[in-house]
Parts: sequence; structure tokens; C-alpha cells
Amino acid sequence: MSNHTHIAIVGSGFAGMGAAIRLREHGFNDFAIFERADDVGGTWRDNTYPGCACDVESVLYSYSFDQNPNWSRSFSPQPEIQTYLQGVYRDKELQPKTRFGHEVLDARWDEASKRWHIDTSKGFYTADVLVSGMGGLCEPAYPSIKGLDTFEGKTFHSARWDHDYDLSGKRVGVIGTGASAIQFVPQIQPKVKQLTLFQRTPAWIIPRHDRAISEREHELFGKYPALLHFMRGIVYVRRELFVLGFKNPTIMRLVEQVSKLHLRKAIQDPVLRKKLTPSFRLGCKRILISNDYYPSLTQPNVHVETHGIKEIRAHSIVTTDGVEHEVDALVFGTGFKVADMPLGHIVHARDGRSLHEHWQGSPEAHLGTMVKDVPNFFTILGPNTGLGHTSMVLQIESQVNLLIGALEHMREKKQRTIEPRPEAQARFVDSIAGLTEGTVWTGGGCKSWYLDENGKNSILWPTFTFTFRRQARFRPEEYLFDAVHKVEPVLQGYGTPIMA
Ligand code: NAP
Repeated sequence: MSNHTHIAIVGSGFAGMGAAIRLREHGFNDFAIFERADDVGGTWRDNTYPGCACDVESVLYSYSFDQNPNWSRSFSPQPEIQTYLQGVYRDKELQPKTRFGHEVLDARWDEASKRWHIDTSKGFYTADVLVSGMGGLCEPAYPSIKGLDTFEGKTFHSARWDHDYDLSGKRVGVIGTGASAIQFVPQIQPKVKQLTLFQRTPAWIIPRHDRAISEREHELFGKYPALLHFMRGIVYVRRELFVLGFKNPTIMRLVEQVSKLHLRKAIQDPVLRKKLTPSFRLGCKRILISNDYYPSLTQPNVHVETHGIKEIRAHSIVTTDGVEHEVDALVFGTGFKVADMPLGHIVHARDGRSLHEHWQGSPEAHLGTMVKDVPNFFTILGPNTGLGHTSMVLQIESQVNLLIGALEHMREKKQRTIEPRPEAQARFVDSIAGLTEGTVWTGGGCKSWYLDENGKNSILWPTFTFTFRRQARFRPEEYLFDAVHKVEPVLQGYGTPIMA
């Protein structure tokens, strides 16, 4: 294979594969997918923890152009989603286009050749266009706790589950009570000798209306694909209604009653119930769904610890009340590096500075996809595309539409480079700030990763997904084409400057 490709796609999860498939449909055949692992699937390949499943219905959490009539349940378990993605990969014949084991380490725009210079773990490549499909939840976040490095037991993160380590009969500490932890805690609880759950903030949890999909339904979906699209439409509309609650936090009080009833039914002990009752408005952090998490916490081998962690010792965790909790293994359900996205450190703007240096803790991109002064760069699931209520595949497909629109325009007009007009990007970022004001994310009384270190919403798309779809249509007037730039050398220590 040549070391130059027209379009370099980074990652082969929902985003990278979705981009590749649609690009080919639109006649862009010269592309390569760089994948650091040895399989496709992205986050659905990496998260194999027990109980891992999607908390969005599969009928919506799949490509609109590749519906699956055979999901076994309304909310699919992780192995089934991974199998679906592997199937799409095979059916769409992406094998010849994929370079497994190629981790993209560094990507710099070369103004002289109007190409991306891409360093990977398996060599150097160039491309005219760089498409990131790295996603927002790809790098696990580990807590920084005093003494963690002195711990002599087993440790691993939920997104890097060690299946070779048998938790049976062990005293296990779990740090975190987010979407991942509430799925694996009920699975490991029956096996372990003692489970100590270190909870910093209790989450709002509502019932999970999951059910098996019958053979008869599979037959009907197979025979009448329109039925599958109809079901998808119903789920879509129902989920979009949550946006009304995000925008009008008082509506969320009603949903809180559903969650409180769910908690009351499962937990009789008033002390435990109090520990598990959130003190912020529902929706401020991700709303979780589970039927087995609360019951698992009532089991005699479980202790929910709400005192903060003071330090970790060789075989124990000491909490701020001075109590020492002995553990053999420590599982981190502590989430991902979201605002400090790895992409920001890898991709460099025209001036040689990384996006991370440009963003200063608040990532921004025009329509969450293109960044000023970074030519021919598209990031799928970039800043302000995250969702708290529905399927990320919807956002991916909107952004891929934008990518295709831009590349088709350039092909037709014979343009070599595209980048957003700074004023278009600024307008978009301002509009996000406006849409975020008064929402549950800013006024809900919680601390969440939806807001970055500067307290800004640089993560979430703060309104309906159909608004994003409409807004993300390609409009040439929002971009600069073949812009000529003279770039000043940057300060030493900021990477190699690339001169015009
Ligand atoms: P998360 O939602 O970020 O939760 C991390 C948990 O770890 C929180 O409870 C957090 O407490 C706690 N934590 C972090 N650092 C800590 C520290 N130093 N000390 C004590 N506790 C600490 O991570 P996640 O559960 O992995 O979920 C991340 C995202 O993945 C979700 O929001 C969702 O988008 C996605 N996800 C989706 C599914 C699905 O079904 N589709 C399933 C799993 C995950 P605080 O709340 O106090 O910060």
C-alpha cells in the first residue's frame, strides 16, 4: 500500500466506519482507516466488562443505513453490538482499506505540500484530508489518589477489564458509580467475598424497560424493514422529549419522582436509601437506567462507602473518617478523558501548536466538526456533539453528511483546502453558550464532565438532534477555501513550525 492516501480516517468504531462507508458511496474510494487495535468496534470493542450493554435502544443505536432486524433484546448487550459492527465491516468490505495496529501518534498539517503528515506506530503517512473517528470515550481516566502506586493488589479500569483475573472470593473495591459501574457491580457482586463501593456522588437511576425481542418480531422486521424504521422513529421521538426537561429543569422534578419510587421499591434500609439519593436536579449528570443495581447493593456482602478516599495503602483504602477498608482488587469505574480528548494532543493546527494548546481546556470546533486554522480536518464526535439523552450514532451520521457535503463541494470546484471561517466558528460557539444557559447542566447543582475545567459546555450538544442535523448541512459560505497563509514560527517547545 502507498504511504499517501486522499483521506486518512482514524479509528474504526461507529464513527470511523460510518465515515468510510458513506465516503465510498459518494465516490471517494481513496481512503485508509488507521486503527490502533487489531479489530474494529472502538468503544464497543474495548468495553467488555461484565454486564456491559447499551442504554439506548438498539433500534436507534445502529446505522440508519444498516438496520439489524435480529437484535435479541431492546437494549443490546455489548457482544451483540460488537458482532453487529464486525458484520457491517465485513459486509461493506472495508478490510482492504484498514490498517490495524496503526496507532496515530501525531498529525501535522504541512502548508507547503497541503498535506497532513501522519506519524503512526507503524510508520509515516501523508493524506490530503484527515478525519478523526476517535470518539470521546476512548481513553480511560484513572483517579489520582495518594498512595495508588503503592497498592499491591490487582487494579484495572472498567474499559480495560482483565478477564484473566478471577474476582471470585476476593475483597473488591470499586471506585465510581457512573453508567459503567452500575452495570458491572450487579454482575460481580454474587461472586466476590466483599464489595466496597466507593461512591462520590449518587446518580439518578430510572427503570430499564428492557425485554427480549421475539422470533415473530424478528420475522416481521426481516420481512418489513419499514416496521423497523417505524420503531426507530417512535424511540427517536420519545428520547427527544428529554430535551424539554434539560431546557426546563423543573420538568425533571417529575422524572425524579419516578427515580425516587424506583429507589424506594428496591431499598428498604433508610440509611442506604439516603446514601443513594442524589441532591442535584435529574439530568445534570447522565441519567442512568438499571433494574439490578439497587437490589445488588442490598446484599450482605456489599458496603456503600460515601466518605471520600483519603489514601490507598498496599492492601487497603483509607477513607476520610479514618476507616481502613481492606481490598484484594480495585476496579476503576471512573470514566474517560473527555474534555482533555487525546485528539487534542495528536492533531496540530497550521501554526504547529496542538489543538490542546489552542483550546486551553475548552475544546471548540465549527459544528463540532471543523476547526479554524486546521485545514482539511474533520472530527466526528468532536466538541459539543455529545448527548445525554439519545444515540450518538445520530450525531455521527449528521457529521458524516457534513463531511460528504464539504468534500463533494471541493471536488466540484477543484479546491484543495477547506477550513471554517473564524467568525462562523465563533458564532457557533456563542450559540452553544446561549443554548446551554438556563439548562439543567448549568443550573442543576452538580459537578459533571459535561462542563470543562473552565466551567464551559464544550462537550454537549445542548438541544434536539434534529436541530443539529439541520444546522450541520454544508453551507459553503461558512468556510474558507484554498486560503493562503503565512505562518509565523511558533515559540520553541511548541512542536515543529510549518511555514507557508
Ligand atoms: P462516568 O460517568 O464519568 O462516571 C465516573 C464515576 O467515577 C463517577 O461516579 C465519578 O464520581 C467517579 N469518580 C471519578 N473519579 C473519581 C475519584 N477520583 N474518586 C472517586 N470517584 C471518582 O464514567 P462511566 O461510568 O464509565 O461512563 C462514562 C460514559 O460512558 C457515560 O456517561 C456514557 O456516556 C458512556 N457509557 C454508556 C453506556 C451505555 O450503555 N451506552 C454504558 C457505560 C458508559 P462523580 O460523579 O462524583 O464525578
